[in-house]
Amino acid sequence: HAKKAGRNRLAEFAPEMTLHIQRRLRLERELRRALETGGLEVFYQPQFDCASERMVGAEALLRWRHPEHGFISPAEFIPVAEDSGLIVALGQWVLEQACREAAQWRGLCGLELSVAVNVSVRQLREKDFLDVVIRTLEATGLPAGQLELEVTESVLMEDVQSAVQFMREARAIGVRLSIDDFGTGYSSLAYLQSFPINQLKIDRGFIESLPGDGTTIVNAVISLARDFQLSVVAEGVENREQLAWLQRAGCTYAQGYLLGKPMPADALRQTMRAHTVAAEQAS
Ligand code: C2E
Ligand code: MG
Ligand code: MG
Ligand code: MG
Repeated sequence: HAKKAGRNRLAEFAPEMTLHIQRRLRLERELRRALETGGLEVFYQPQFDCASERMVGAEALLRWRHPEHGFISPAEFIPVAEDSGLIVALGQWVLEQACREAAQWRGLCGLELSVAVNVSVRQLREKDFLDVVIRTLEATGLPAGQLELEVTESVLMEDVQSAVQFMREARAIGVRLSIDDFGTGYSSLAYLQSFPINQLKIDRGFIESLPGDGTTIVNAVISLARDFQLSVVAEGVENREQLAWLQRAGCTYAQGYLLGKPMPADALRQTMRAHTVAAEQAS
């Protein structure tokens, strides 16, 4: 009897499962096509020094404009790309776009702006990923010190060994490393010590509840970072009140809709020029 019930249950769920799998397979096929035919674009979201409110760099964020469904969120298609392994080619493409773009920023505004690129664990596990990074820096002319790689906390914990090894080698050539979405995963303080990182990015979820429930955790992360001699980026800063709070708390950098949304490369260049002119007039 139990066996029969089990089978029935399976039969009930099967169509849904099939739909889910079919949708994923189609997304994967279309994503591969988008990569080949120019359907993808890299947007850039500016990052600012909290104290001076000067622009210090930008994060590269992938965008996909689907011919029928319009804009599809990376939160939806990145997991598909990770499961299928397509993330390796996709990630390489983003890295190259971002480095090529950032290599031109210095000439535009005279500032040493860095570019932050999100990296998935699948990329870290590739034996030649460091070579890919080195070759990309050489080909685009971007100094290693102006490239920052962001890895999420949960991703680090998935494969601690290859993550630590990659990070040591990347640090050795001057690339900077950040832990993204910090506070949402389960890494212990002991791991924090063994990862050769430069920076923590506090997850938007904590910034959202500033200056309310988030204060204790954000203060704790800022003082933790100070003790480990790391810089801190607050993600998802949406209003003046949050920024003022972060400035008082001694947060290093801020990123969010208040300061600038993710935008196409040429829009960021315009923002950059306007920002430089404003900063020159102020000083
Ligand atoms: P993330 O790296 O933590 O990026 C920050 C996300 O927060 C971005 O979402 C950004 O648009 C959004 N955001 C920034 N400021 C604000 C704000 O003030 N309010 C709100 N509500 N949101 C804000 P996005 O662009 O949708 O990307 C989502 C995630 O997808 C990223 O989270 C990252 O994990 C992943 N992702 C994006 N591009 C890439 C990529 O090229 N490679 C990989 N592996 N992952 C990527
Ligand atoms: Mg990120
Ligand atoms: Mg994040
Ligand atoms: Mg995220």
